Amino acid sequence: MIQPIARSLKALVEKRSTLEFPESREPLPDNYRGKLRLDMNTCISCSACERICPNKTITMVDVLTEKGKKVMPQIGLERCLFCALCEEVCPPKCLTLTKNYDYEAYDKRELLKRPEELE
Ligand code: SF4
Ligand code: SF4
Repeated sequence: MIQPIARSLKALVEKRSTLEFPESREPLPDNYRGKLRLDMNTCISCSACERICPNKTITMVDVLTEKGKKVMPQIGLERCLFCALCEEVCPPKCLTLTKNYDYEAYDKRELLKRPEELE
């Protein structure tokens, strides 16, 4: 009986071993690769990202912009390897990997992101 009480009292004064996620988070390394970001204003619709993607998770889809209809990458994050090859080949550097890892979903179809959702 004494032991559980002693353990509870100890836990009250001890430093916490877990983080209060999502309010506090572990610092990420500089080279951490997370969710992709697309700057739709500078994408030139060249499809280089689609061609280089080793897991074929990029598909060019129609997007209506102020300048008319263009094609831009739609990305299935559930199949992304975070290899950064698409970022490397993108001529205007408008497709970049961020440190954002908040993209969990119950249904993997929610991870299929249209260009507008990558901004
Ligand atoms: S990071 Fe790699 S796997 Fe992910 S979309 Fe880009 S090229 Fe494809
Ligand atoms: S490589 Fe860059 S500029 Fe070319 S389509 Fe992909 S995101 Fe757009």
